[in-house]
Amino acid sequence: MADFILEVENLKKYYGPVKAVDGVSFKIKQGSIFTLLGPNGAGKTTTIEIIEGLRVPDEGKVIFMGREISRVGNKEKEHIGVSLQETNLIPYLTVRETLDMFKSIFSKSLDIDEVLKMISLDDKANTYIKNLSGGQRQRLVIGLAMINDPLILFLDEPTTGLDPQARRNTWDILLELKKRGKTIVLTTHYMEEAEFLSDWVCIMDYGKIIKEGDPKSLIKSLAKESLIEAEVDANSSILERLKSTNLDFVYDTKHKRLILKTDDILSTIDLLLRLSKENSLQIKDLVIRQPNLEDVFLSLTGRTLREE
Ligand code: ATP
Repeated sequence: MADFILEVENLKKYYGPVKAVDGVSFKIKQGSIFTLLGPNGAGKTTTIEIIEGLRVPDEGKVIFMGREISRVGNKEKEHIGVSLQETNLIPYLTVRETLDMFKSIFSKSLDIDEVLKMISLDDKANTYIKNLSGGQRQRLVIGLAMINDPLILFLDEPTTGLDPQARRNTWDILLELKKRGKTIVLTTHYMEEAEFLSDWVCIMDYGKIIKEGDPKSLIKSLAKESLIEAEVDANSSILERLKSTNLDFVYDTKHKRLILKTDDILSTIDLLLRLSKENSLQIKDLVIRQPNLEDVFLSLTGRTLREE
């Protein structure tokens, strides 16, 4: 089989003046976890729903298993597993009955007990949907997406709204699926999730891919060793002062976060403290840390991925 299970070329989808997807191209390697990372409204869902055959693009090509397809037909559906951002389940069916119902749609399917084990819901087989926790429900949605033993799974924000523990459990399931040779296409706005799981990340913003690569290389591309981050109410004259130094920095006005990039921690802190004294600037939450994907996004856009 081709190295790349899926390729898209120059996908476009406009809704009136909104360029939801604006010339997106990427290639997805067989057996990898591929992530579209971006803030709300970046165009992630539109992109994967085009690939899934749920939306019609204005332009662009989708090449699945080496063959260009104009839309996902029954043949492709047998190889694809999909979980949408919101899945309406029937509250008065049990977990097993729900899996059974989805199983009946496909000509080929996995054994339900095997799926239950994979999604760690073997002890909940007879529980009604209405009685599942958010995390359990989300795991079931992944189980439903894999009931036809697909080659490739599309998971749209599979951990949104989950607590950290439930999110970790979902990550373990996704890593296990990858071990079994599945290709996983994920959308998320959680940078830790993208960083932890992905073999390849495409960072999306306003309908475009603004950067792609493996998470480590993306982070390394920021070059400098450490970041000093502080909450400060920096006014324009302080920002001008900072600009006049050789320091590389970004200031997120919305969250009042100043991030200084440095390979000389002590002298940078010294400068920050001097600035704060001279300008009666209050510094809160001073931390020294290594760069992450959030910083990559911030340095590209000047904004954070955070929702609030
Ligand atoms: P989220 O995480 O919030 O779902 P996203 O990155 O998946 O964000 P999309 O849902 O793809 O983003 O939306 C991209 C843009 O297209 C947004 O501005 C959205 O309002 C717009 N959009 C999406 N679907 C439609 C539609 N059916 N009609 C009009 N505009 C739409």
